Amino acid sequence: METLRGDSSKTTAAAAVPGNDEDIRRNRALSSKLYLELIPSKVPLIYSSSYDIAFMGMEKLHPFDSSKWGRICRFLVAEGFLDKKNIVEPLEAAKDDLLVVHSESYLNSLKSSLNVSVIVEVPPVALLPNCLVEKHVLSPFRKQVGGTILAAKLAKERGWAINVGGGFHHCSADKGGGFCAYADISLCIQFAFIRLNISRVMIIDLDAHQGNGHEKDFSSDRRVYILDMYNPGIYPFDYEARRYINQKVEVASGTTTNEYLAKLDQALEVAAGSFDPELILYNAGTDILDGDPLGRLKISPDGISIRDEKVFRFARERNIPLVMLTSGGYMKSSARVIADSIINLSQKSLINMESTTGKI
Ligand SMILES: [Zn+2]
Repeated sequence: METLRGDSSKTTAAAAVPGNDEDIRRNRALSSKLYLELIPSKVPLIYSSSYDIAFMGMEKLHPFDSSKWGRICRFLVAEGFLDKKNIVEPLEAAKDDLLVVHSESYLNSLKSSLNVSVIVEVPPVALLPNCLVEKHVLSPFRKQVGGTILAAKLAKERGWAINVGGGFHHCSADKGGGFCAYADISLCIQFAFIRLNISRVMIIDLDAHQGNGHEKDFSSDRRVYILDMYNPGIYPFDYEARRYINQKVEVASGTTTNEYLAKLDQALEVAAGSFDPELILYNAGTDILDGDPLGRLKISPDGISIRDEKVFRFARERNIPLVMLTSGGYMKSSARVIADSIINLSQKSLINMESTTGKI
């Protein structure tokens, strides 16, 4: 395993040329409004009711619980682990924010309902006027993107942040797919480079699918170390992007909880010895759950809690700010499993969901 340290002569050279694309991108990130100031009473758990997607009934045509994000928060609030008024509501990512990573031509391609229908894998979306696709599909996604970008700032200030959404790891600067229309992970990291004085980021992608979007975006960027644990027998079969993974851990269909967690322990140990990050981006997809029709792995609900706990412990013990994104996993049971895992993190004192200014 090659030891990587944050040094990218390519990026430094590009930034030195005035008026080039790098400068324009930098200025866009610097003038963004997404980095909200967090008032002390808030906890770094990010969610908005506008995350939840509705295709006017068409969501039933996709094997997705497209309201899982709201259900996670409702469980946490109903069970007294989270005060609703302490949740951080992000802003929606604006076009200038998206252009920090995306090309103008890619964003224009989303003006075609047909293109969006292919990306979200709901064919009837192709028949909707684009204004409805904007309102009911793309705008909720952009709100989640705003949450992911903001999460890095909050993680740096508070040590951790959870965006109860995001994790669109199949989307790269120029191509969407697999329900991912915007590259929120790449955006979050580019904003962190520009605004947070961070120069080394580790992506720990434990969604069942390979994270080919961020892999393509950071293919030659030595500031980013990618640990990806995925099932190689399912979508997206992106063999080119696999070359850009620093630590590839393949978990075959049918992998059990114990086998999975043993591989994760080993992988985290290798990662710790290979790279020294200033920020960890944890893509915590729950499509590794037993019974998930897409992930085809056999991880138990408790296994998910243990997995998340291992990653949080890894980051917190080393004092590395951690961003968690919920990513894939849209079975009806996923929201409950994610809420239970967040409760476990709180009970193990790996996160603190109490308001810092005390209770009323
Ligand atoms: Zn997935």
